Amino acid sequence: MAEKKTSKANSKSKPDSKDIKKKFDYLMNDYKNIWKSSSQEERDSIFAFADEYKQFIDIAKTEREFVSEAINLAKAKGFVDINSLNSIKPGQKVYASIKGKGLVMAVVGKQPVSDGFNILGAHVDSPRLDLKPNPVYEDEETVYLKTHYYGGIKKYQWTTIPLSIHGTVYLKDNTCISICVGEKDEDPVFYITDLLPHLGNEQMSRKGSDIVKGEDLNVIIGGIPIEEDIPQAFKINVLKYLFETYGMTERDFVSAELEIVPSMKAKDVGFDRSFIAAYGHDDRVCAYPALATILSIPKPNKTCVCMLTDKEEIGSYGNTGAQSRLFENVLAELFGKQNRSFDELLYRKTIENSKMLSADVSNGFDPKYASVSDPRNSAYMSHGIKIEKYVGARGKSGTNDANGAFVVEVIKAFEDNGVIWQTGELGKVDEGGGGTISAYMAQFGLEVLDCGVPVMSMHAPYELISKADLYHTYLAYKAFVLHMK
Ligand code: MN
Ligand code: MN
Repeated sequence: MAEKKTSKANSKSKPDSKDIKKKFDYLMNDYKNIWKSSSQEERDSIFAFADEYKQFIDIAKTEREFVSEAINLAKAKGFVDINSLNSIKPGQKVYASIKGKGLVMAVVGKQPVSDGFNILGAHVDSPRLDLKPNPVYEDEETVYLKTHYYGGIKKYQWTTIPLSIHGTVYLKDNTCISICVGEKDEDPVFYITDLLPHLGNEQMSRKGSDIVKGEDLNVIIGGIPIEEDIPQAFKINVLKYLFETYGMTERDFVSAELEIVPSMKAKDVGFDRSFIAAYGHDDRVCAYPALATILSIPKPNKTCVCMLTDKEEIGSYGNTGAQSRLFENVLAELFGKQNRSFDELLYRKTIENSKMLSADVSNGFDPKYASVSDPRNSAYMSHGIKIEKYVGARGKSGTNDANGAFVVEVIKAFEDNGVIWQTGELGKVDEGGGGTISAYMAQFGLEVLDCGVPVMSMHAPYELISKADLYHTYLAYKAFVLHMK
C-alpha cells in the first residue's frame, strides 16, 4: 500500500514565502544598499552634497588648505577666533587654529559646557610626498626634487601621474610665502618617471614594495639651462626662477613645508555617477561632512565640537597631531571661558562626560580582492556609514575598543534620524590592520567610536568612495552632535 501524503500544510492554502521571511526579520541583521531604498528626493540630496564636497576638496588638498578654507567658511557663518573672547555664551560659535594645520570649531550649547561635549574628530592630512631638506639636484641636464614619502603608500602608484606642489616656505627674514602650482588649467605639473616595459624585466621581478624605491621618487621640475656656460646651469636656472617668483633660495627649502600631491580633480565615476574618485578622500571624506555639520547646526543642547587633526597618517604625533595637548587646550578654554574660572577636577569630569565619533575612513569590500576580507564582517560600498567598534592589528593591538553601552547609544541616534549604517572590520584577522585617532582621545576618558566612509583603493593617489555613503555619513554626524544626550 502506498503512503498517502496528506500533511496539514498541504491541506491548507500555501502561505506567501515573502510573509514567512518577514516573520523572522526581527531576528536577523541585514544591511541594505542605499540606492535600493532611496527616493528621488533623497538622491537629489545625495548628488547635491557630493557636488559641494568635490568643490571643497579641489581647493583644499592639504591640511593647511583644508584648515584655511574651513576658517573662511566658518567666519562667513559667524564663527569667531576663541582668542578674541573673554567669555562665551550659548549659541556662540568659535574656532581655534592649531598652528594652521589643525582646527577646533565649536558651537556652544544651551546646557552648560560642564555637561560634556559632543565631538566629531577627523584628520585633514593625507598620504603624499614631502620634500627632503636638500631636495634640488641636477642629473643629465634635468632638474629634480628629492622626496620623502609621508604615510603608507604603494610607491609605484605615484609615478607617471600629474603632480602639483603645495605648501609654505619661511624665508630668512621670517616672511611666509605660499606656493601652489599644478592645480590651475594653465599651470605646469610635475612628474615622476617609470621604466618602460621594454626594459622592465628586472624591475617587474622585484617584490611590490621595491618596484619603485623610495629614493627613486624624484620629481622632474625643469630642463632648460641658464644662458651662462657654468656647471649646474640647469639647476641654477630653476633656482633663479624660484628666487624671482618667490624670493626663495636653495637654503629656504630647509624651512619649507612643501607637499607633492596628485593634481587630478575630483571626478564622478560611472555612467550613473554613483562614485567619486579623488585624491585624499582619506580623510577629507569624513572631515568635510564633519565640517558641514558644525557649520550648519543651530543652537544645540550640548556644546558641539569639530576637531580636525594633522599627522594622523604618521601616528598623530607632533603638536598638530591628535596626541597634542593643543586640541585639549581648546576644550579647556571653552570650559574656562564659560565658567570664568578653572576647576581642574570639574574640567576633567567634563571631558569624561563627553562623547566622540572618531570620523575616519575604512576599507570598502572589493570583490576583486575579496581574499583579504571576511565577507561577513566587511563594509560594502553604498551600504552607509561604517561603524567600527575596534580597529588595530593582530590581537586588536593598538585600538580603542568602544564600550557596548556607547555603541548602542550611537546606533539609536543614527536610526532615529534615518541614517543607514553598517559595520565590519578592516580586513581579515592577521591580514594587516590600521589605527585612528580614537585610541588617543579615549585617554581622556570620553566615550569614542570609530565610524566613517568606506573607501576603495585607500591611500592610492586617486581613491574611490560612494556618494550615498558620503551623504549618510553627513546625516550620521549631524544626528550624533544634535541628539546624543
Ligand atoms: Mn584616515
Ligand atoms: Mn589613512
